Amino acid sequence: MITGKTRVAAVVGRPIAHSLSPILHNAWLAAAGIDGVYVALEVDELGFASFVEGLRGTSLSGVNVTLPHKEAALAAAHEAHPRARRAQAANLLVFDEYGAIYADNTDGLGLIAAFAEQAPQFDPAGGPVVVVGAGGAAKGAVGALIDAGCPDVRIVNRTLARAEGLAREVGGSAFALDDTEAAFHGARAVINATSAGLADGQTLRLPLEATPEDCVAMDMVYKPLVTPFLVQARDLGRPTVDGLAMLIGQARPSFEAFFGQAPPQDTDVRKLALEALGL
Ligand code: NAP
Repeated sequence: MITGKTRVAAVVGRPIAHSLSPILHNAWLAAAGIDGVYVALEVDELGFASFVEGLRGTSLSGVNVTLPHKEAALAAAHEAHPRARRAQAANLLVFDEYGAIYADNTDGLGLIAAFAEQAPQFDPAGGPVVVVGAGGAAKGAVGALIDAGCPDVRIVNRTLARAEGLAREVGGSAFALDDTEAAFHGARAVINATSAGLADGQTLRLPLEATPEDCVAMDMVYKPLVTPFLVQARDLGRPTVDGLAMLIGQARPSFEAFFGQAPPQDTDVRKLALEALGL
């Protein structure tokens, strides 16, 4: 039952009705027996800054932030984890009782957790890793890979200047799409961090054949769960990691920040998320 003492957290974005985060967090809350609730709130770009300002010093524990507010979320914070500053974006805002806002970015933690779960043989420190894309998600991925000890992060992007900017700001080396084969040579993993095919209907065909046979293919997209990139990888016999594992991986540290304890390990939130995706 929701009472006056129930702790509240939320995910904020636009659109937001499709979000799987309430399913994950509320299942963990129920399993842990915590008097808490996690809701999805739609907020538009114009209203975001005043929305966050209005939450300062309230009893709301914090919010996850998704598109299109991740940059604005970082700007609204008084303090931020260095990984959020480096990614120039936050997916987590925590409010303290004195009105201060603390920002973090747990997407990179989610990425590393996804590999640990679905491709435990992969060692980020073991060799080159390719990140395809140079947007917000790629930024977080490059930083997380460097933090995990990756010696050679290669960023491939349609707009080369964006890959070069990311390499300059965060690290790694930049490659044009025409040079993808060279970037794939000797790669231990390839991560698709593009939104290709989601809105514009253009599928990105990558020369995965140029990677070693045990190279792990990861796609950040989880709708569909098995993307054309992952189908291609499976057809080549490559191990794969999906975007749902990353989504769950980024939600775990958020839950801990909101509710003061790690989510229960034995709750099968992936099964619930797959059901919500109709799978
Ligand atoms: P973004 O900032 O808009 O960046 C989009 C990237 O995709 C850019 O590098 C863009 O290249 C590239 N791109 C788009 N269409 C392309 C095409 N037709 N051909 C080649 N490249 C194309 O988006 P984002 O925030 O980084 O998100 C990227 C993806 O990650 C999204 O699908 C998002 O849903 C997913 N994501 C998943 C999780 C998770 O937890 N699983 C977390 C975060 C993000 P240009 O620079 O050339 O435009």
